[in-house]
Amino acid sequence: MKYPVTHNRIGGCDAASTEPLLDVYSPLDGSKLSQIPLSSAHDVNQAVQAAAAAWEPWAAQPIKERVQIFFRYRALLERDMDSLADLVCAENGKTKSEAIAEVQKSMEVTEFACALPQLTAGEIMEVSKGVTCRSDFLPLGVVACITPFNFPNMVPNWTLPIALALGNTMVMKPSELVPLSANRLAMLLEEAGLPAGVFNVVHGGAPVVEALCDHPGIRAISFVGSTRVAKIVYRRGSAQLKRVLALGGAKNHLIVLPDAHPEMTASNVAASMSGCAGQRCMAASAMVAVGQTEAIIERLCAEARAIVPGKNLGAVISLQAKERIEGYITEAERQGAKVLVDGRKAVVPGKEGGYYVGPTVLDHVRPEMAIAREEVFGPVLSIMRASTLDEAIAIENASEYGNAAAVFTQSGGLAREVVERASAGMVGVNIGVPVPREPFSFGGWNESKFGVGDITGKSSIGFWTQLKKTTTKWNPEARTNWMS
Ligand code: NAD
Repeated sequence: MKYPVTHNRIGGCDAASTEPLLDVYSPLDGSKLSQIPLSSAHDVNQAVQAAAAAWEPWAAQPIKERVQIFFRYRALLERDMDSLADLVCAENGKTKSEAIAEVQKSMEVTEFACALPQLTAGEIMEVSKGVTCRSDFLPLGVVACITPFNFPNMVPNWTLPIALALGNTMVMKPSELVPLSANRLAMLLEEAGLPAGVFNVVHGGAPVVEALCDHPGIRAISFVGSTRVAKIVYRRGSAQLKRVLALGGAKNHLIVLPDAHPEMTASNVAASMSGCAGQRCMAASAMVAVGQTEAIIERLCAEARAIVPGKNLGAVISLQAKERIEGYITEAERQGAKVLVDGRKAVVPGKEGGYYVGPTVLDHVRPEMAIAREEVFGPVLSIMRASTLDEAIAIENASEYGNAAAVFTQSGGLAREVVERASAGMVGVNIGVPVPREPFSFGGWNESKFGVGDITGKSSIGFWTQLKKTTTKWNPEARTNWMS
């Protein structure tokens, strides 16, 4: 085992659980990395107690003082970028450059958190002579953050710098498949000067999530993961009268028009479908080719063939994931799709125990096939053919998800039409992975997100705070004002 047991991190200390341990494997080669406790409601309660005890003094600090910790935290992320990226590679299986990009995005969100004093300055106005109204953003208390396997460093950092800088304390539950980065982040926060108990980590599976949803001491929950579990968490957390923001799965459509720039389009689409082995909620999963696009598809296939597992393509998370992805390809082929580039049965020499799927491009996929409707979450692109832009938009609109969509064209007018009519929260023009940069917020529509607001950027501020509205009257000469 490469790392010792990864304990829960509660109140600034490793907290051994009495529950059974789960083995954690590296997708790169199938080797055993560590073990985590399958924590119980008792462990969750300990973490919530620690976060509750830390809350009052933390919330009492002015926000300008709180964010000093995040200036230092950002510097520590930069200092340790290399080793943080190595850890992401080991537990998630992505390539080093992808892992570095992930840490860089964590730094960008942390920079946004450092700007929160400027963004949350309250409002004050004299509403009648000697009477003022004032509003302040105040923290909620103890909040929870539940994260998926695909970005072990970045997705926790979508929420923790913002929620904590705004004065909340947190219990985080990382994916049991990638638990190691969470503890490293906790250690870095402590090194940056975060008081013990402000950020806590509890490891495990569904019972930990259920205990977080049910715990009366938790005020709000952010969740990122599959739509199936997002619905469970949204329903269960809301039933306990908590605020819940639950981001779910995706099925992103790229609409390629015949006038699209062939080289740029082919490389963007190939990078979007294969980056992070297709395990991105922003990945291109379906391409709708409108009219005469043969030259673009040919180039795209050439780009895809140059992407080599173990070299410039990482592993998928597990053997089950590999089997599921290959199953989708085989079923689509059986139903009449044409496999242009076949990534099934990929093996990386020297890493035979790893879980690899090569880039795969399927043509003549029909909208009713499972591979066109469901989230595959692997380096697989399904090409559907449309004869008009209206038909292409109808295919995109029919998806039950709505995370991202993109259009490739050189026509501003057609691009604008897709931007206006796409049923997705994040839309790209000539860009395959339209992730908004801070301070623009991140979040999808439809079955890709449940709850109000987005998870990052300005739109996240309202989720992690409550407004206090104060009316003050210092005009005894008026005796009454018009509302008294
Ligand atoms: P997942 O839903 O399986 O797991 C997410 C979290 O929920 C994990 O911490 C897991 O332990 C927990 N969980 C799993 N089953 C549960 C259950 N029955 N009850 C309660 N909790 C449970 O997701 P994943 O496989 O780790 O991540 C991949 C998914 O995340 C994909 O669908 C992807 O699109 C999505 N994702 C979405 C976004 C977004 O911004 N919309 C970002 C990243 C990932």
